[in-house]
Amino acid sequence: MEIEKLSEHEKFADFNKKMINMIISEARQLAIKEMLPTQELRDEGCVFENGTVKVPESFHKFYELHRKGDWLAMSDDPDECGGGGMPHTLSLVANEFFTGGNLSFMLYNGLTHGAAKLVGHFGTEEQKRLYLKKMMSAEWAGTMLLTKPEAGSNVGALITSAKKNDDGTYSITGNKIFISGGEHNLTENIIHPVLARIEGAPAGTSGISLFLVPKYRVNQDGSLGEFNDVVCTGIEEKIGLHGNSTAS
Ligand SMILES: Cc1cc2nc3c(=O)[nH]c(=O)nc-3n(C[C@H](O)[C@H](O)[C@H](O)COP(=O)(O)OP(=O)(O)OC[C@H]3O[C@@H](n4cnc5c(N)ncnc54)[C@H](O)[C@@H]3O)c2cc1C
Repeated sequence: MEIEKLSEHEKFADFNKKMINMIISEARQLAIKEMLPTQELRDEGCVFENGTVKVPESFHKFYELHRKGDWLAMSDDPDECGGGGMPHTLSLVANEFFTGGNLSFMLYNGLTHGAAKLVGHFGTEEQKRLYLKKMMSAEWAGTMLLTKPEAGSNVGALITSAKKNDDGTYSITGNKIFISGGEHNLTENIIHPVLARIEGAPAGTSGISLFLVPKYRVNQDGSLGEFNDVVCTGIEEKIGLHGNSTAS
């Protein structure tokens, strides 16, 4: 696809043909040597126990390799969030190897990346400061909490409620189901973007707001605070992706 032509632009000047080939070959090696073996063990599946979810043991080692290689945010902005700044087309090539290596595993990272992008585009300055780099570096994971027992396609029917507190925060109450990577032991914190309706807001989609709900609250210095009452009540079967926790 002549990706190397992108290096004619100042933004991608570092990504000449040699560099591109090196990145692709690294991703391929990692996927075949380290990731594929975890795929063969995927039927181990996740285990739900007392509100926690254990991912297959083999996932932990690869998560660290993938994290330390800075593969999660390879095409994101280096200054804004510590990303690798490579052309998106190139990251698609690398991710094709990783997705082939183990789809169940990659769903954790895919969800984290999506949630981090959301914070980067729409978060407040404080949210960006506290969450963006930790999510983009895969130190913390991310999810998306839309689906409820009473609202799947019909998102506007959701009744998850948000009550404003005196300090400007909100207390969110509700149940969500089918949440990919909703609970697991790969990271010390999981950041959940949650759809909810502020008390008194109109019915339907126009009355829905989006909240950032960390599993553990985050102190102003970025350290972990107290448990935020995000309780996992179980995991579900989902089209054979046993290594990816689908949580309620
Ligand atoms: C692999 C996978 C991963 C997922 N991960 C997440 C996640 O991370 N976070 C999350 O929040 N959710 C997640 N979900 C849930 C997903 O968003 C919902 O399954 C989806 O929104 C559909 O909702 P539902 O299952 O309740 O089906 P329903 O909304 O009940 O739909 C059932 C059927 O009815 C049809 N239908 C629905 N409404 C209408 C209508 N008005 N007119 C005509 N036909 C209609 C649909 O097309 C479908 O065929 C995941 C689902 C899957 C399969």
